[in-house]
Order: sequence, then C-alpha cells, then structure tokens
Amino acid sequence: MKPERRISKPRLDRVRWWRYRIPFRTPFATAHGVLAQREGVLLELTSAAGVHGVGEIAPLPGFGGSLEPLWDLLPAVVERLLRARGAPGPDPLHGGDSREREGVPSALWCGFKVALLDLAAREAGCSLGALLGAHPARLVPVNATVGARQTATAVEQARRAVAAGFTTIKLKVGMEASVSAEVERVAAVRAAIGPAIRLRLDANEAWTTELAIAAIRATEPFQLEWIEQPVPAADIAGLARVRRGVGTPIAADESVADVEAVQALLTAEAADVLVLKPMLAGGPLATLRLAELARAAGVGVVVTSMLETGVGIAAALHVAAGLPAPIMACGLATARLLTDDLLVRPLSIDNGVMPLPEAPGLGVQVDWSRLERYTVSAGELAAR
Ligand SMILES: [Mg+2]
Repeated sequence: MKPERRISKPRLDRVRWWRYRIPFRTPFATAHGVLAQREGVLLELTSAAGVHGVGEIAPLPGFGGSLEPLWDLLPAVVERLLRARGAPGPDPLHGGDSREREGVPSALWCGFKVALLDLAAREAGCSLGALLGAHPARLVPVNATVGARQTATAVEQARRAVAAGFTTIKLKVGMEASVSAEVERVAAVRAAIGPAIRLRLDANEAWTTELAIAAIRATEPFQLEWIEQPVPAADIAGLARVRRGVGTPIAADESVADVEAVQALLTAEAADVLVLKPMLAGGPLATLRLAELARAAGVGVVVTSMLETGVGIAAALHVAAGLPAPIMACGLATARLLTDDLLVRPLSIDNGVMPLPEAPGLGVQVDWSRLERYTVSAGELAAR
C-alpha cells in the first residue's frame, strides 16, 4: 500500500485555524457518556503557490481525550511547520509514526497530515485517494450508527436507516443496567430491521470480561456481525478471553491506537476485526499501515470517522477506499448526527454506499460562512 505518485513537499506560506462547536442533532449516547455538541478545529494550509489544503482536528472524549491540550499546542506545531518551509519541509507522504510525531497527539497530527495531503493532491491534480494508493475504490459501503440512549428511539433510528437503504446497522450498547436489558435492546432493534440487515454492536468498553461473555452469549440468537470493544481498551488479554468464550466475532476499536497496540492485539489473537480511525491512528498513512498489519495477520478492518464534520469524514473515506477489496461497511455515515456540516455540498450517501469525491484532494469544499457561524475562536500564522 505504498503511495505510487512522486510529489514534492509543499512550501507553506500561511496556516489558519478555526475552533468550532456544532450541536448533535440528538444527544449522542455511548457507554463513554452523552455528547451534546461536537468540538474541533478546522485547519487550512496555504502553499507559496497559493494552493490550499484543509484538515480537521477533532479528538473525542473516550478516544484519546479532549480538545483543550491540543488547542494549546496548536500554535507551536504551526510554528514548527512554517519554520521548515523551504528547508527539509513537512513531508505529506511520510507515515507519521509516533517517533516522527514527537509527542504531538494523534488527532492534531491527523489534521495536519490530511491538510498536507489535500494540498499535495490538489497541486498534483489528483484525488487524495489516488495519492494514497494506486487503485482506490470508487464506492465505499457504509453502516448507519444508532446511538440513541432510549431503546424506542434507537429502534426508530434503525428503522429509518433501513428505509434509507442501509444494509448494515451499528447499535450502541453497554448502557443498560443488566444483561437482560441489553438483550431486550438488541432484540427490539433486530425485530425492527428484520433478518436480512447486518447488525453489529458497539459496547465502547462498558463491560468486564465476565459480563461481556454473558451479554454476548445472550445476544447470539440475534445473528450479530460482530461486537466492538466489549471490555476496556487496555485489557487486551481480557478481550482475547471474551473472543475465545463467545461465538460472535470480536472487533477492537478503542484498543487500536498505534502500531504497538495493533501488534499486541494481533499477537494475543484478541480480535477478528480492527476498527481504524485516522483521527486516532495519526492520519491517513498511519491508518493504512495499521490496515496492512491486520491484513497480513488475516484480521479484517473497517475505517470509521470519529464523528467529525465532512472534512474529517472525507479524509477517512479516501482512506477506506484504499483498503483491500471487498471493503466491509465502514462507519462513515455520521455527518447527519450533527445539526450542520461545514461543506458546501454534503458527501453523498446512496443506499448505504458513499461514492468517492472526484475533485482533486479531499474533493470537498468548505462553506466558510457556515464555519463562521460555528466558530468560537480562531488563529493564523504566516511564514516569515
Ligand atoms: Mg466503536
């Protein structure tokens, strides 16, 4: 999965950034808690040739922390990037492992990497997907994510997703007080969507090993595609124990942070599927590197958003298009969980499939007046 194209390192002239807050359409509930609004940073790099690249920095509580420390760190990282102008320079095609990052948190790094790749791809006149790999898929299947706290609302959301053409539903679980209540939630959604729709669960680290084994065994009659992160991220031995104790395939999500974590998961044979998030892995190339490790071990992967705006989702979509075929339904149909997006034209979803934008770079256009509406703070630095 090596990039095929030779591109030059961009000479950066200016970096601008905007901190935004966009409310969720309905409060988004997972076992990590309830989110009322999404907070992140939109980043724009401008090259000496006047070409722009955009990226998004949107860490999520429960997935590597809050925005605050990244916001404080941002100007220093921009300074570093601008200082490198003309000299060795930032290399958009460098994978960005933890050493290269030098302690820069993954979400911050991902934002810069995506913006650099967007800029480089625009300069090269190709899509970001084409920059990442020789033959990106043109269509990526996606699942609907159902995160409503109340089962009745979850059922309604799942029903609407099926009516909209989705063939895979991901249901958040791990929020009920008992195994029987979890089973009721799963049963209600399965009954509503019928037997032909793929149903996967996500417990977001909610259970102990014993509880996970009990809950998963109890939900096995409902033909689940897999269950994501039933136990805490750090408990890889526990995850392996759950996997050995149940018939349903196990996916790791919060556990998948970097190369070391993926190697630990693969060595322990703890997961059938890895859920990869560019925002958590540190950008597109770092994500594809993790996908390659999983593939070599015979473990499946999906790429998901981290509930970003359309900019971050577009980046994840280009990454997903670089996965080996057949691509399993990825968690990228999340833009509508927010009340608004930052794009002129939303990414399209047609019957549970997202086509890759064809315009150069990310292939999306930021709606600057919308961004202004949601901006709570902004900054700018130019090369000296
Ligand atoms: Mg998950």
